[in-house]
Amino acid sequence: FVRFSGVTKRYGDLTVLDRLDLDIGWNEKVALIGPSGSGKSTLLRMLMLLEEIDEGLIEVDGRPLTHMQGNDGLVRANERYKREGRSRIGMVFQNFNLFPHMTALQNAAEGPVSSLGLSKKESHARAAELLSMVGLGDKLDHYPAQLSGGQQQRVAIARALAMRPQIMLFDEVTSALDPELCGEVLNVIRQLGDEHDLTMLMVTHQMGFAKEFADRICFFSEGKIVEQGSPEQVFGNPQHARTQAFLRAVT
Ligand code: ATP
Ligand code: MG
Repeated sequence: FVRFSGVTKRYGDLTVLDRLDLDIGWNEKVALIGPSGSGKSTLLRMLMLLEEIDEGLIEVDGRPLTHMQGNDGLVRANERYKREGRSRIGMVFQNFNLFPHMTALQNAAEGPVSSLGLSKKESHARAAELLSMVGLGDKLDHYPAQLSGGQQQRVAIARALAMRPQIMLFDEVTSALDPELCGEVLNVIRQLGDEHDLTMLMVTHQMGFAKEFADRICFFSEGKIVEQGSPEQVFGNPQHARTQAFLRAVT
């Protein structure tokens, strides 16, 4: 459903993604793990086309988000499919990035009005439904400053879902939270995965959650996926020396 073929991203002399191939099935849950600086967030950013890639091709549902490399050596975004492809993707970041001057309800309702052309009424009804789903039905009129970190992050998840994405990207969504608050956010994500047909890619440092949540674990090192497999394979019997060293260090 999502395919990276030979994707390379460089910042100056630094190759951050190195001819990366990755094929993700529809409704598959994939956890990306690996050391700091190995390119995990960059991969998610490339899928959102927040920046240009240097080489390779990214496809969503069989359609290229990027053109193949041209004769001039540049890879250009495929504007038509880029818009369409991106509208299928919701992303939640480490720092919730809510609009501070809007209530939870307004935050979650804003996107569909401005981008999907929904009426304000429809959008508010849907946002209220989603906020109830993430356990915030009684906080619709609270501003971000009146919510805990875990609650803010759940508003951010509801806001991403309001755009009706088929793909959800999560980048260390719990790392700014106290351990008690992590659980409530992870529960929401787990529930989403169980109850909805969503393709999910999650960068996480929480191996316990990755193990339980993901169909597949991809271990990144220096811009490459050096090892991937089921959680049982990767956590139980890692093959690559770098994976073994990483898992020893973090668990
Ligand atoms: P972490 O676990 O710490 O979040 P990561 O695997 O997500 O790490 P990335 O954020 O993908 O790592 O970064 C990969 C490398 O790319 C890092 O060395 C980083 O310094 C570099 N990098 C990222 N963005 C830029 C940028 N805009 N300009 C230059 N270098 C960048
Ligand atoms: Mg990162």
